[in-house]
Amino acid sequence: ELSKTGWLLDITKLKLGKNIGEGEFGAVHEGHYMGQRVAVKTIKCDVTAQAFLQETTVMTKLQHKNLVRLLGVILHKGLHIVTELMTKGNLVNFLRTRGRSVVHSVQLLRFALDVCEGMEYLESKKLIHRDLAARNVLVSDDSVAKVSDFGLTKVDSKESDNAKLPVKWTAPEALKKEKFSTKSDVWSYGVLLWEIFSYGRQPYPKMSLKEVKEKVEGGYRMQAPDDCPPGVYSLMRMCWEPEPRRRPAFHKLREKLEREMGKLSPGCRE
Ligand code: ATP
Repeated sequence: ELSKTGWLLDITKLKLGKNIGEGEFGAVHEGHYMGQRVAVKTIKCDVTAQAFLQETTVMTKLQHKNLVRLLGVILHKGLHIVTELMTKGNLVNFLRTRGRSVVHSVQLLRFALDVCEGMEYLESKKLIHRDLAARNVLVSDDSVAKVSDFGLTKVDSKESDNAKLPVKWTAPEALKKEKFSTKSDVWSYGVLLWEIFSYGRQPYPKMSLKEVKEKVEGGYRMQAPDDCPPGVYSLMRMCWEPEPRRRPAFHKLREKLEREMGKLSPGCRE
């Protein structure tokens, strides 16, 4: 199927470079494919490879400036997934290594908007990400943030593996009743906003996963990060509404973020 649709790439045209990351299932290398700079994720285990082949089937149908673009796959001693190279790495490391003196609030809001637009696109395709977090957002050479890791993305909201859920990012109804939806992605997006405005801090600092589950269920919410614009914090709180229906949709969040951008940088809007 992949070969017919042009997603099967030619191994002889791939030049592998240095290791740039370690995923749960395999290493990530930078490289070149027919002159273009690429990232290559290699999965050696056959069973996992099958699952990833599914991930890429989802990815072939998605094209947006704020989603990491799939170029194709290579089947050779396992599976190689070839995507566009995001030279500035994941958003957590980007923010941690640069910090407040280098990255200003307009740039933070720009990242927030980038991710929101990518998610608005997934929302329009009725796709649920399920693992939205700053570690799964990558930054391009020109500092555009793009959503990656569609590993858990599914069209329907059933079947999941509870043990693997990223507790600090997962909505209460998804943790308790496995009810995943675009609105549970919105919850995760709220946590991601918190990560962005705290320059890559671990959410719910010093709290155990068990504690987070219990406290959040009881109504506890994280405080605003230092120097976070009040309008942005109020968006986080909307994302963390207990009732999924009351959380804003991504297209609403985008409008609100654009307004925040207008307040912050009257001269710098795109
Ligand atoms: P998975 O659970 O799917 O294995 P993961 O979250 O464990 O994913 P990967 O997505 O495999 O991790 O990526 C690991 C690291 O490699 C990332 O944090 C990032 O730093 C780097 N990386 C991954 N993809 C790219 C890319 N396209 N461009 C640049 N760096 C990348």
